[in-house]
Amino acid sequence: MNRLNFSGGPGALPESVLAETQRAIALVPEEGLSLLGISHRSDWFAAVLAEAEANIRALLHLPEDYHVLFLQGGATLQFSMIPMLLLRRRTQTAEYLHTGYWSGKAIPEAAREGAVKVLWDGADAGFRRLPRDTELPYAADAAYLHYVSNETVEGLQFHRVLGRDDVPRVCDMSSDFLSAPCAAERFALIYAHAQKNLGPAGVTVVIMRKDLLADVPANLHAALDYRNHVSARSIFNTPPVFAIYVVLLVTRWLLRDVGGLVRMTEVNRAKADRLYALIDASDGFYVGRAERGDRSLMNVVFNLESAEREAEFLRLAQAAGFHGLPGHRSLGGVRASIYNALTLDAVDALCEFMDDFRRRR
Ligand SMILES: *Cc1c(COP(=O)(O)O)cnc(C)c1O
Repeated sequence: MNRLNFSGGPGALPESVLAETQRAIALVPEEGLSLLGISHRSDWFAAVLAEAEANIRALLHLPEDYHVLFLQGGATLQFSMIPMLLLRRRTQTAEYLHTGYWSGKAIPEAAREGAVKVLWDGADAGFRRLPRDTELPYAADAAYLHYVSNETVEGLQFHRVLGRDDVPRVCDMSSDFLSAPCAAERFALIYAHAQKNLGPAGVTVVIMRKDLLADVPANLHAALDYRNHVSARSIFNTPPVFAIYVVLLVTRWLLRDVGGLVRMTEVNRAKADRLYALIDASDGFYVGRAERGDRSLMNVVFNLESAEREAEFLRLAQAAGFHGLPGHRSLGGVRASIYNALTLDAVDALCEFMDDFRRRR
């Protein structure tokens, strides 16, 4: 059975990308080698990196004064590398928003490096909504503001850019990167690992304004110093050639097949609208978790009346070919992750299954 991948991550990839990856694993004709055996020092891979970077720049209309890096260690390593760069041995305070599971993982790592102020904490209210602007007392002298644009576990997404223009904005976009235009030029640093919207696990894209590297603390470990990755053009040490190649194919797909991020967000909105409309019209049979205005277009999180009914729903959904619907292990419930490559047809199939399940109960 060919399952539809609604997993929170690794997510679905476009069929055409999978087919081309398969061919490249067998043979990259220009090199006469399998993709998995091609050197990261080859001219072929230099061209892969250059095109992947150019495609990301084109998709985001990224100004020249940004670096685009392909790093390892996942989004999790960025939780540490960012405060090492921007907070270590500084007197300023970094502002963090605690809006869900993933922002909660970033905060203690920052606190190891310096002063952190949690500007807003949604934990007590169970992470069912995001803060309004009036609830965010930004300081003009903060080192930077860090937030997560899309809380993957709880299904909460900011539909606006936060913060002040005079304080560097740092954003974890791991689960909504390249799903919509994001005004990249308003951020000092954006990071996103590949395995939700962009490719396989193993590579993390970091987009940083060049001036952030003007004042780097002394004695950073070499692999944790962004300057080394900049000067080595993302091959400071052996990079994941396979993962970066698939990211290149996905960015090509976004540009050529989808037609850019405005078009991508239209498709993503249509998918999310169908699921939320079904949930809202179910007379409380399905209950959306997030407050309406903060609903994620990437992760649709909902509950059924009881744990038993949820378990039955998930069991039948799995048998019917829908993969990855159980909610995050920290939260339970149901989560339909509908990243870029998950098609509208797949969402329609899930909607049909959900309608049918409700009618039978
Ligand atoms: C999945 C996820 C992470 C964890 O990323 P790793 O690459 O596993 O370190 C971090 N942030 C967000 C928003 C995520 O969705």
